[in-house]
Amino acid sequence: MMGPIPAELLGLIFLRKSLRFRLMAGEKIGLLLVRKAKVLVQGSFVETDLLVEGGRIREVKSLIDTPGARELDGEGLYAGPGWVDLHTHLYPLRFGGVGSREKNLGVRTGVTCLLDAGTTGAKNFEGFKERVIDRAETKIFALLNIKSLGIRFWQLGRVRTGEDDFRMISEVLSKHRGLIKGIKVTASREHMAASDPLYYVRRAIDAGNEFSLPVMVHFGLTPPELEQILPMLRSKDLLTHCFRNAGHTIFDSRGRLRPSILAARDRGVGFDLGHGVRSFSFPVLEQALLQGFDDFTISSDLYLLSRPFRARSFANVLSKFLNSGMGLEKVIAAASIKPAEWLGLERALAPGKPAELTLFRLEAGEFIFDDCWGEKRTGTQRIVPVYAISGGSLFPCRQ
Ligand SMILES: [Zn+2]
Repeated sequence: MMGPIPAELLGLIFLRKSLRFRLMAGEKIGLLLVRKAKVLVQGSFVETDLLVEGGRIREVKSLIDTPGARELDGEGLYAGPGWVDLHTHLYPLRFGGVGSREKNLGVRTGVTCLLDAGTTGAKNFEGFKERVIDRAETKIFALLNIKSLGIRFWQLGRVRTGEDDFRMISEVLSKHRGLIKGIKVTASREHMAASDPLYYVRRAIDAGNEFSLPVMVHFGLTPPELEQILPMLRSKDLLTHCFRNAGHTIFDSRGRLRPSILAARDRGVGFDLGHGVRSFSFPVLEQALLQGFDDFTISSDLYLLSRPFRARSFANVLSKFLNSGMGLEKVIAAASIKPAEWLGLERALAPGKPAELTLFRLEAGEFIFDDCWGEKRTGTQRIVPVYAISGGSLFPCRQ
């Protein structure tokens, strides 16, 4: 039997079939009419037309008659707000980082905006900006790592107190307001100073207070414990890797959501997936959903190890949530509207709003999904990105 057709090829077939004009990928689209796609309007997907002009949405209504518009046949496609991945790593190994290439994570895979989760710090952020951010097709924002050299592949596990330089951090944050959206701290045993496991968490929150920026906290191996970290977090701070399962989870010893998690949520602290290679567990997700814990952002933590293994792609991560019983609208909101809100971006599909869209289809079949701890689930559908519309251009997608 023939295997499934690769998504990249399907994207090209769709592009040839559905565009009634010649268009190079990434070319400015001018006036574009997307016909009969299921568009996410006020929380539900409804079949309608959508007219885009010059990077903005002009109309969302049925049977728009627009002479001169290029047309894209949206039948069989869903048109949702552009995907936003809040946890990625984009500074590559050849410069000392742990990142994957933007072209493998960005608009060509349906992701219209990427947040680099602190791969660089005050000493190497300029290099990251020049070499990656300024040259990317995809809109990129960054978190600045509280450690001055960020996350270095060759230096994992060798941390001492004092790898930060507060004066320099302040300079970089002042210079790149708008581009740097927050501070990142990796609060996990192997990345913390043994003498004081909370040192960097405190430093990150100090910097956040000084510059009115949120902090993204990675939690992992103890110390520090969640019970120590959570009371320190402020409204809009984000706990990433919330569905980890390494003996230290968001649940207490009786399997209930920790009171400190609920208290943090009530204070406005956000929760983020950050799938990666060690931070997604089906049982933890399922248990959390059963307990009504469904307000979080879905992010991939794609970097040089999780792209070939486990997370693989943003769409693959989304499919795991879709097959775990979260409705499609909720999955898409957690991957677009919610993370966009955190970054201060607009994603509503309404006239006058920026035309940042991801068009995808649902493929039916039998698909095996795995988590990071050896658990597998069989799913009946998966999300396949077909086009991204971003910055006034159209991009055919692959997984
Ligand atoms: Zn990460």
